Amino acid sequence: MNTYFTEYENLEVHELMLRDRPRQEAYYNAIMKNKELFKDKVVMDVGAGTGILSAFCAQAGARLVYAVEASNLATKVALDLIEENGLTSIVKVIHSQIEEFMLPASAEKVDIIVSEWMGFYLLHEGMLDSVLFARDNFLKPNGLLFPGECTIFVAPCSVPSLYEYWHNVDGVNMDRFATKLRLQKSTRPEITQLKPKDLLHEGIVFHWMNLLDVSAQELDEIRFKEVVATQVPGKHQGFCIWFEVRFPGEETVTLSTSPLAPETHWKQCVVVLPEENCENLEEKSPVAFQILMKRSGNDARKYNLEVELLDPNVEEHPVPCSCHMTKC
Ligand code: SAH
Repeated sequence: MNTYFTEYENLEVHELMLRDRPRQEAYYNAIMKNKELFKDKVVMDVGAGTGILSAFCAQAGARLVYAVEASNLATKVALDLIEENGLTSIVKVIHSQIEEFMLPASAEKVDIIVSEWMGFYLLHEGMLDSVLFARDNFLKPNGLLFPGECTIFVAPCSVPSLYEYWHNVDGVNMDRFATKLRLQKSTRPEITQLKPKDLLHEGIVFHWMNLLDVSAQELDEIRFKEVVATQVPGKHQGFCIWFEVRFPGEETVTLSTSPLAPETHWKQCVVVLPEENCENLEEKSPVAFQILMKRSGNDARKYNLEVELLDPNVEEHPVPCSCHMTKC
């Protein structure tokens, strides 16, 4: 068994997700407040884990739920959870990787696919590929995906945990240590929770996807080039990347991992700037940059993130772009 799935056999990984209230509330509300979409429907839960989302769907009125889980949690945990909640007649727990699963010959395709596949900066883990596989093979035409849309945002930011904190650690100045620490960390992005005041901009859309029509190839490489005008003065020490997913239904639910939203276990992904590029910026300062998020050649579940600062004066956008939350 692949190590990716064995990592999910650690119950503490599931504990972390199940204690993440914004995550739980988003899935619960998206399903329970749109019960009419689930009533008497056939649902597939891709990567069911403990089985929690399958239980929500059954409680919302689904007729049949395929809870497909590749790790041995399927037999060790999900089966129990379904039995414990009296849902065995509705939820079928299947211990299989979705890519190896086949619907029974006479079975109809599914009306809804639910999945909690999101990783750090949305795409880390590459599990979205498995959801797209499920969509292409098991979803009825006009079927729904929960969530159905996602957006990645980026904003210039300060990173006080890597700078200010070290000015005075219990009375000791540790700036030189901090410089070495930042250098050591500079090769990989930092997963950390920023405060709203650390953002120099509320965030612009770096990428948007409708999960009903995105292809796995489109996830291989995402590029973005933009000039933004900072909205508050502050120290520009990095770029903060976060995501939002949205669920279908009359009662629209959005799960946001922004520093402006309640904290989730995804936190945010911060790419720290090399020290010589950090600047104290006035409000409305132009910040020109490009980001490349590219699937790693060695491990398709990981991405390389490259952020490059550009000179706003020599870019195609001579002045900061005034458009709000959109790519122009
Ligand atoms: N749905 C659960 C668990 C989410 S974590 C919840 O919301 O709490 C993602 C789960 O998907 C993990 O348990 C992992 O083992 C499983 N998974 C990932 N890729 C899969 C695949 N291709 N086929 C089946 N299960 C998969």
